[in-house]
Amino acid sequence: FMKFSDLKLTTPYLELPELFYDLVEPMPLQKPYVMATSPACAELLGVDEDLDRDEKLLSIVNGSEKLEGSKTFAMCYAGHQFGYFVPRLGDGRALNLGKVNGQNLQLKGSGLTLYSRRGDGRAVKRSSIREFLMSEAMHGLGIATSRALALIGSDTDVARESLEKGAIVLRVSPTWIRFGTFEYFKTRRKYEKLQLLADYVIEESFPELQDHEEKYFKMFSKIVENSAKTVARWQSVGFNHGVMNTDNMSIDGRTIDYGPYAMLDDYEANYICNHTDVEGRYSFKNQPSIMQWNLSVLANALSPMVNIIKMSKLVEKDFISIYESEYLELMKNKMGLFEEDENDIPLIRWMLGSLESSVVDYSRFFRTLSTYDGDKSEILALCEYETPLKEWLEGYDERVQKEQLSQQKRSKKMLQTNPKFVLKNHLLQEAIEKEEEGDFRMIEDLLKVALDPFSEHEELEYLNIPTPPRSKNLKLSCSS
Ligand code: AMP
Ligand code: MG
Ligand code: MG
Repeated sequence: FMKFSDLKLTTPYLELPELFYDLVEPMPLQKPYVMATSPACAELLGVDEDLDRDEKLLSIVNGSEKLEGSKTFAMCYAGHQFGYFVPRLGDGRALNLGKVNGQNLQLKGSGLTLYSRRGDGRAVKRSSIREFLMSEAMHGLGIATSRALALIGSDTDVARESLEKGAIVLRVSPTWIRFGTFEYFKTRRKYEKLQLLADYVIEESFPELQDHEEKYFKMFSKIVENSAKTVARWQSVGFNHGVMNTDNMSIDGRTIDYGPYAMLDDYEANYICNHTDVEGRYSFKNQPSIMQWNLSVLANALSPMVNIIKMSKLVEKDFISIYESEYLELMKNKMGLFEEDENDIPLIRWMLGSLESSVVDYSRFFRTLSTYDGDKSEILALCEYETPLKEWLEGYDERVQKEQLSQQKRSKKMLQTNPKFVLKNHLLQEAIEKEEEGDFRMIEDLLKVALDPFSEHEELEYLNIPTPPRSKNLKLSCSS
């Protein structure tokens, strides 16, 4: 196996015109140390999983040393933040290192760029631990996402609500282009650059479309499909992203830019994980319609190149049908329902309503349902109020009669679909506090279950405790 530090990078993005990026050097942190590395992400890059033995890893992530061929640059983009257009955003605290094996390497928290505006170009340890772990957890759940190879901490002060310490995550993704990258060129009426960008995206993310006669329309259609599927998966696992601004929407539909996200504790449709989102624009239940809104913004940005009426039809009709069929299938898998039944959609709605009225932890409910054999006591023990879910379980009992598979086989499948381990905020918070005391073991343990959340991991049962009531469905601050 090759060592990570022996990788040779290319920088195809720098072949685009200068307006697309800002060449800039990283600003290394003081007294850096490796906090965590992901062997699974090393595997993705095709490098030796034993990253801790790579003596250059730390200085590469800290930006004091470079991989061969690497040139560091920040990408320029615009975006709609909470519904309002901002003509220039860009990587204010991220630096791209270059590309290898189809993956773009990026440092987050490595200092100022042309696009830092009033920010300091830094990321704090707390939010970096959260991003590192959740990227890998999302992958463990089978949802398209950027990944994280390594996380370093430091002694550099970073001012937030209080003084914190700086950190850097080495993030990895097949693309870092965002909906907002297209918005940037559209609003400046740089239509040739818009097309260069589209060609770049097709080559990087949708190479199968290269020779298609309607390749730009097809590209948009793939973006609609991927985005609809990703948001359906979020809804099925109970993930609230929290900042679905168009600059945080990956052009290939994967999940990126983990901020004040949360995995639901108790099921609550109107849950808002982001403390600054006062109106609940990015609440859990709004995510599908916000994704659709974001796609309409992207359609507008592509309108100099693609027929807007055709794109609008995709956003208005196809998005919904792709979303709904994906969501239905995912939820039926979670419920262990593999036969067709016209009442399955109402049954799902009834279930969600009952979960909310009964006040039940979303993922514990499904994990417990996975071994349900007619004895309701274990599930009802999860509820604050039993009646709504008890009534629903009676409806579910009846529906399950129609299943051909044995209870045992259904159960086995459900245990592979409904994770035992979920990165709840209270666990992340505890891992962050332990790290402060110099103990990284909980981060390591969380990474282990994040990458393999369906297995029992008996020795890690402490990561499977119910959320303490005071820590349920908290809101997180965006200042990260
Ligand atoms: P976010 O909501 O974290 O995706 O950030 C929105 C925009 O603000 C992006 O252009 C970021 O690069 C930029 N930004 C966020 N935090 C900072 C920071 N501490 N320093 C510089 N730019 C930042
Ligand atoms: Mg430039
Ligand atoms: Mg962002």
